[in-house]
Amino acid sequence: MTHCITHACGHEQAHYIPGSTSEKARKARWLTTTKCRACFVADRKAEDAAAGALDDAAVAHLCLAPLVGSERQVGWAASIRAKRLARMVQAAGGGDPDPACVAVGDARWWIDHRDLSDADLLTKARAAAPAYVPAGDGAARHAA
Ligand SMILES: [Zn+2]
Repeated sequence: MTHCITHACGHEQAHYIPGSTSEKARKARWLTTTKCRACFVADRKAEDAAAGALDDAAVAHLCLAPLVGSERQVGWAASIRAKRLARMVQAAGGGDPDPACVAVGDARWWIDHRDLSDADLLTKARAAAPAYVPAGDGAARHAA
């Protein structure tokens, strides 16, 4: 049976609630304490955007290689890269991440390696970034 629940956010949403009468009542009561799906999704998007903005700020000082790939790949890779590098910056106590990671601009590479540990990512980055030339000041420099 479908129940029309008024959620904590004030919106109504229909829910199919299976189970015994007491289970239905308990679930229906619990649902009134939660937000509707639309508000839940909006909250998640806002949280993701806020986290993404923090990641972007944490890596804004780095000279990142321009991402290359399809528009969709570049958009996805940008958030993956910012998240990973922000974590490396944090792990380095605010210091710069390994220049090899900063030098990788292949969007697909970031997407394909998004689940690797930081150590494995670094190993792959060092292998993937032959164009990286260490400069005297230790900053990444890209071959044109
Ligand atoms: Zn709502």
